[in-house]
Amino acid sequence: MTKKAPGRSHRKGITLIQLGDMFPDEASARSWFEAIMWPTDDRPCPRCGSVNTHEATHKTMPYRCRDCRKYFSVKTGSLMEGSNLPLRTWVYALYLDATTLKGVSSMKLHRDLGISQKSAWFVQQRIREAFDAVNGGPLMAGPVEADETYIGGKEHNKHERDRLHAGRGPVGKTAVAGVKDRATGRVSAAVVERTDGPTLKGFVRSRIAQEADVYTDEAAAYRGLDNHSTVAHSVGEYVNGQAHTNGIESFWSMLKRGYYGTYHRMSPKHLRRYVAEFAGRHNIRDHDTITQMAIITRAMVGRRLRYEELIA
Ligand SMILES: [Zn+2]
Repeated sequence: MTKKAPGRSHRKGITLIQLGDMFPDEASARSWFEAIMWPTDDRPCPRCGSVNTHEATHKTMPYRCRDCRKYFSVKTGSLMEGSNLPLRTWVYALYLDATTLKGVSSMKLHRDLGISQKSAWFVQQRIREAFDAVNGGPLMAGPVEADETYIGGKEHNKHERDRLHAGRGPVGKTAVAGVKDRATGRVSAAVVERTDGPTLKGFVRSRIAQEADVYTDEAAAYRGLDNHSTVAHSVGEYVNGQAHTNGIESFWSMLKRGYYGTYHRMSPKHLRRYVAEFAGRHNIRDHDTITQMAIITRAMVGRRLRYEELIA
C-alpha cells in the first residue's frame, strides 16, 4: 500500500496570481510549452522527426524543418494543432482544468478567458482527449473495487439497475463502468453499452491483473470474476471486511457533482471524454499543479481532434 505520488498534503498548488507572474506574456508560455514538448535540445520536427530544424520568421510557426521543409510550432502534431488561440490561453485552460475538481464549463472558460464559447468548448474537448491519454497504465494489481453507475436524465439512486430487468440500464441514461485500484488510487472508467455480465466482467478483466482481488456489490453481472468478494448493499451492508466499493463510489459522486452541478447536461456522445477528464484529474491529483499541467500537455503530443469529428 505504498503511495508513489507525493501525497495531497505535500503537493504544491499555484494561485491565479502566481500563474499570472509565471506567464506574463506569450513568450513565457511558449518557452514553457517548448520545454515540455521538446525536453531535449533536439526540437524534432513533429511531422518527420528530423532534428535538422532551424528558427524561422514565419508569423505563427517559429521553426522550420530542413528535411520536410515545413514550418512548425509547439502546437503542430498535437491536440493544439490548428488552434489560433495564444499559448497563454491554453496555459490558463490547463490550469483551470487541472485544479477545478468539479470541472470547468465552457461558459466559464468563455467568460474567464475572453474567448468565444464555441472556442472554449473545443479547447475543453481537446484537453479531455489529453486526459484520456493520461489514464493509460499497467493492469491494476489491486485490491480493486469495481462498480458501475448511470449518468444522464435526473439524479436518482445509483443502482437503478436493481429495479430494472437484468443487463438493461434506465432509459435515457448512459452506463459507466469503473475500477479503482486501492493500492495506487488509480481509477479507470469507461462508457459501456450494456451492464450485463459479459460487458462488465469484460471491462473489469481488461483493466486488472489476473491475480488481483476484486470487490463489488452483489450484482449478478460480476459473478464469476476471479478472487471476487461482494458486499450486499440490498440488505444495508456497506462494508464486509475488505469488501466494499467506497473508493469507486466516491469517484462516481465527484463525476456526478460535476455533471449535475457544472455541466448540467453531457451529451451521451461526448460523455466518454467527460469521464476521461474526471478520471484523469483524479489520477494526477497528488502532483504539484505545474506538474499536472505538464502531464496533460505531454499527453497532447501526437494526437489530433478535429472540430468536424466532434460535431459529426
Ligand atoms: Zn520535418
